[in-house]
Amino acid sequence: MMLHISDLKKFVRCPRLYLTDRDSPPREYRPFVRLDEEVTELAAGKIGAVNAFRGQRGDEPEKALEAAVNYDWLVSARFAYMDLRVKVPFLHRNEDGWDIYFMFIGLFPHPYDMEMYCDTVWVLKKNGLKIKDYYIIHLNSDYVRQGELDPDQLFRISDCFYNHKNHPMIPVREAVEKNMKDLTDLILRVQACGWDTVQLPVRTSRCVSRQKCRYYDSCFPEEKEGPANSIITLITSHYRYDMKAAGIEYLADADPDLIEGSRQQYSQIAGDQNGGLFVDRPALCSWLSYVKYPITFIDFEWERFAIPPYDGMHPFDVLPFEYSIHILHEDGTVTHTVFLSVHDDRREFAEGLIRDVPSEGTLVAYNAEGAEKIRLEELALQFPEYAGQLRDMISRMEDLQLPFSSGTVYDVRMRGFWSLKTIMSMMDDEGYKNLDIREGMDAVFQWRLLDYDDESADTEKITEDLKAYCGMDSYAMTVVYKWLLELAGG
Ligand code: SF4
Repeated sequence: MMLHISDLKKFVRCPRLYLTDRDSPPREYRPFVRLDEEVTELAAGKIGAVNAFRGQRGDEPEKALEAAVNYDWLVSARFAYMDLRVKVPFLHRNEDGWDIYFMFIGLFPHPYDMEMYCDTVWVLKKNGLKIKDYYIIHLNSDYVRQGELDPDQLFRISDCFYNHKNHPMIPVREAVEKNMKDLTDLILRVQACGWDTVQLPVRTSRCVSRQKCRYYDSCFPEEKEGPANSIITLITSHYRYDMKAAGIEYLADADPDLIEGSRQQYSQIAGDQNGGLFVDRPALCSWLSYVKYPITFIDFEWERFAIPPYDGMHPFDVLPFEYSIHILHEDGTVTHTVFLSVHDDRREFAEGLIRDVPSEGTLVAYNAEGAEKIRLEELALQFPEYAGQLRDMISRMEDLQLPFSSGTVYDVRMRGFWSLKTIMSMMDDEGYKNLDIREGMDAVFQWRLLDYDDESADTEKITEDLKAYCGMDSYAMTVVYKWLLELAGG
């Protein structure tokens, strides 16, 4: 049975996770960040990997070993030891062994994914290859595309991992050699693992560490099906499961000695004690006092590219492709506009905003600080001629998420979440349910079909669905805002 490093990682996290993944049908690969280019070829141009052996998917491991005798450069070569198979981006022969070049499709390689580096080198050493120098090829955050891609500027080569301030600090060689372990026993345990050997699901920190396990809901279905005011909905609580195990079922009965005491937790517990709803009216009125008519509820959709596809873009820059605006006037009337484009229409996007957003009143976005304000600032940098108007929009923007994320308002039906969809589901059950696109990433995946000029795509339907989805986001904000007005007493 062929194993990959990802299998070992899953097994170490949880044997049940490894087995469930192994026995599930392959999932469709839908990356959050788009990477259209042949990045290995581009990087080969950067390091001068010419006359190289090029490995292919499905190669027998002997092929790479034979190539190691005849070539000075090995690109994407496949090696294996004890059924653990690795793909090595670049190996370059020197007088005293081989230099290894890892690829990191990101801006700053940190020493987080150490198993991948260590396990790769372990397999190479077991195959008798002596590794001398260690490098990581990664994307250059300072690169700005102008015309054709320039591999020399697009990539950086580092012999160090970066620290939390993104400064190169820890030599790759030192880190890998210090952390490398003999994998023999682990591989044998993975090979021996079967459903008869794993225990029933047990909730531990590994289920939610870094990223919530994708099988969490199937391992612990009772959490989704339990009451909305269950103690396990208590936000950022270290002890919610301890409280549950001690017989505390509801937020209202939380043990004061076992809560951290954040404002959100207070609003959750007070909400449950209060029949399901908590409102800090003075704080809510204060927030509402900043919102002036005409109120522009605004939502953006965008695509993120690892490698900049258009002039003026850096690696990992975003391309905004859609906005929806609902404008609520003081007399209660509402007007609605949607802008949608494919390919590079950043200028039209910026000009459209200047045309469609009123020059006075407040702009309201949900998670404005983490999204719309950043997008507007990026446009201001890319189109300095519009910077004044775009930055004026930023200065007039309020974040509708704030009353919820700050614990000013909590309804137990939120179940510890405060996304716009969660709040909207309490107001109007039909909201997102009738849409064919219901999530931001689904919108991006559909838009990609338009952007790729995919002939099999139903362009008209996708366009309609994208407009309906983005339109629902800005409409939902008007509904939530009116609800907050009601809660504040009008
Ligand atoms: S949710 Fe937890 S127990 Fe279930 S598969 Fe994931 S890590 Fe394992």
